[in-house]
Amino acid sequence: MTITDTDASPGAETPFPRAAEENLTRDEAASRSAHLTVDAYEVDVDLSGAAAEGASTYPVSTRILFRSASPGAETFLDYLGAAVEEVILNGARLDPADHVGSARIRLPELAAENVVEIRSSSRYSRSGEGLHRFVDPSDGQVYLYTQYEPADSRRVFPVFEQPDLKATFRFSLIGPQSWELRSNGAEVSRESVSGTAAGLDGEGLVRVSFAETRRMSSYITALLAGPYHRVDGSWAGGVEGESPIEVPLAVLCRASLAEHLDSEELLELTRSGLDFFHAEFAFTYPWGKYDQVFVPEYNLGAMENPGLVTFTEKYVFDTDATDAQRETRANTLMHEMAHMWFGDLVTMRWWDDLWLKESFADYMGSLAVDEATDWTTSWISFANGRKAWAYVQDQLPTTHPIVADITDLEAADQNFDGITYAKGASVLKQLAAFVGREAFREAARRYFVRHAFGNASLDDFLSVLGEVSGRDMTSWAAAWLQTAGVPELAASVDDAGRVVVEERGTDPATGGPISRPHVVEVGVHVLDETTGTLRRTGSERIALEGPRVLQELTLPAAGAPRLLLPNEEDLTYAKLSLDPESVAAVLTHPVEDPLARATVWAALWSMVRDGELPAARFLEAVMTLGLQIEEVVVVQALLRQSDRALEAFTPAEERERLQEQFAARLAEFIAECHGGDRQRAAARTLATISRRTPAQLDLLAALLDGEAASLGITGLALDEELRWAFLQALTTHGRVERNALDAELAGRTTARGRIAHRLALAARPRPAVKKEAFAQAISGRDDDGEELSNDHLTATVEGFRCGPAELVDAYEEDYFAAVVDVWERMSQGQATRVVAGLFPGTQDLTAGEKPQEHPTARRTADWLAAHQDAPAALRRLLIEEQDHLLRSLRAQQSARR
Ligand SMILES: [Zn+2]
Repeated sequence: MTITDTDASPGAETPFPRAAEENLTRDEAASRSAHLTVDAYEVDVDLSGAAAEGASTYPVSTRILFRSASPGAETFLDYLGAAVEEVILNGARLDPADHVGSARIRLPELAAENVVEIRSSSRYSRSGEGLHRFVDPSDGQVYLYTQYEPADSRRVFPVFEQPDLKATFRFSLIGPQSWELRSNGAEVSRESVSGTAAGLDGEGLVRVSFAETRRMSSYITALLAGPYHRVDGSWAGGVEGESPIEVPLAVLCRASLAEHLDSEELLELTRSGLDFFHAEFAFTYPWGKYDQVFVPEYNLGAMENPGLVTFTEKYVFDTDATDAQRETRANTLMHEMAHMWFGDLVTMRWWDDLWLKESFADYMGSLAVDEATDWTTSWISFANGRKAWAYVQDQLPTTHPIVADITDLEAADQNFDGITYAKGASVLKQLAAFVGREAFREAARRYFVRHAFGNASLDDFLSVLGEVSGRDMTSWAAAWLQTAGVPELAASVDDAGRVVVEERGTDPATGGPISRPHVVEVGVHVLDETTGTLRRTGSERIALEGPRVLQELTLPAAGAPRLLLPNEEDLTYAKLSLDPESVAAVLTHPVEDPLARATVWAALWSMVRDGELPAARFLEAVMTLGLQIEEVVVVQALLRQSDRALEAFTPAEERERLQEQFAARLAEFIAECHGGDRQRAAARTLATISRRTPAQLDLLAALLDGEAASLGITGLALDEELRWAFLQALTTHGRVERNALDAELAGRTTARGRIAHRLALAARPRPAVKKEAFAQAISGRDDDGEELSNDHLTATVEGFRCGPAELVDAYEEDYFAAVVDVWERMSQGQATRVVAGLFPGTQDLTAGEKPQEHPTARRTADWLAAHQDAPAALRRLLIEEQDHLLRSLRAQQSARR
């Protein structure tokens, strides 16, 4: 998948109670797969009542054929349903009283060959986990889709929920006859059934059966139902020398977004991707059709269900999108398509090897955008955006090797992180440089053939890599895949005037020096007096194992502005330690080469986070050089980082002035641009910064009133997204009241509008508002006691965090008192939104105070000390939040020196 938040009313039903046995362990999974072979599932899901107002559950019947190598032994199915009505194992009815309310269905006294049949009912989800049900506020239509990774198919049907118990699946759906009813396999039959669809004016019902799938894991099965809008297409092609195939394509979205679905671009990208991956992998696409669906209230970027890929509908651009957003969408599309092979065809045995699919998909996503589309900035986005995510995560105390130690499902759920994705992908980019692209490609091809429709682990991958490269990859894997932490690569000039490159830093596990094998290219960039830019004058590619003196690179005369860059082409994964001359040069002169430029900006941001470069100097450089950068993706990243620098890395006494300065510069820049993507990116950031500083509120208000032209601003589309962003900023300062927000929503009632409206309501700077928003976030329920959906919960949390610190910080004690209860009461996804989102992480360091003495840092430390036995996943969240806080306090401290 692709990645990218009081008290409960007494007696209120908890939607997904967290039973202890819900957290399946690796050992339990291993012992289950040691004696079980699962052959086939047949699952019938009845959605005839899905459109009824307030629908809460639906009937499911499940039939599973499986074998046991230990007849007489017992096992269990995973199921988080509402009720189990009947379980029949090998013809004998089991006592259902054992199962209700539990996360498991016990199956005693197995035979060698078994059939189990279960009739049960499952719950519609509001959290995006399981079968999510959404009512479109634009037209009242009901939409459903499933999302399962890592382990939520058990919310829909009883299942052996672990990736190495693969089976074939035959799904059928009962639903309204006018709806799209889809699953992984193509529709094979459709018949009328008696009765009418609830809530749809007597509409008839159909039962649609889908083709049996190839053997696959349960977490990538999928169902879809609702009046989705659909556009069809097709692709023909295949592997050279084999019979060509034809793949039916479809893209779908909610009916109310249909006019914004740019299906031609999406289908064209899909065809380019299928061409690319067939040439690259030489293994014919095995999953039949290829549907891509954009779904509401989605928790992630996308999910690689074979034949039915789901995406966030933020990728249906109903407001002005930048080219960088379109590129990101293309990247996600390619990432998911790579998973059809990496992950779906060959799957990790257990979640320790999640990287085996996510690192590859992430790397392949960027590679495919670079090589199979017209975008030329794929590796620039990767260097500047994706890798920044990895560097942040890899410096947290909770970091872990790419190959992780995942003992249970809660840990698995948290490992969809910057290490598994972005660091893994960076290391694979380095691997391709290390063994060569051809060897890398050949290894992937052999891996697919050898493990098709099965499972694999690190050793399986290393053995094909060893075969094709003729090298023992064990020490490479130990250094890169089994060691945590960010390498630090330094280039400097020694006393003899020669360039020296070395890796610095310590191994977090041993505390000793660390040296990983790198293939890197070191470059020299010198100021070109005519263009005023730093232009590359020479570079040298080397294999680095220990410090290395470069002979071929020549430097300009002392004093001439120059950059010494130890990671040209962004080949390796490392923080860069630029020498002082280089830092001085890049803060005052633009770097000409786009990829080198993105790499340098990533290094500068890293220095701000480490307290080595004051935020004020970084902001100055963004205002003068950064905004002028041609690649919008880099500008967007710099704007996000600037916002963060102002919020967290700037000492309190400087913040107001710097915020005003930066906001003023953005306002000026918006006027200078006369349209375009950079103007839009600047307007979005100005709205965010204006939640904290009132300096440009008059401008935002005037723009909302349609006075752009009189302010000299042209080309800026004041669409739904920007209008709400501006309104939220104004509301935070008390300049907009509820009636204006209600009127805005009434004028255009959409899903986005509803979320934005909720955020704005919670942002009003009044004690009573904050009290209610906090209570809603902690309970996960709105003021009518209705469960908040994932998106509405996040909006409530974010709205609460807006506004005067004295109002928000008053809830710190209540927050720490509530987190355990939140964790136990909510699903992990929902609890994470609340625990991470409400953490009081933006704080000022008073003069003379040490970061760890800050009251919030202390309180967090006390909580961690007092809750050693809290769930590890919850502790991990708080340890990470505390580390973010301490890092920002340290940067504030060093900026004062
Ligand atoms: Zn993925």
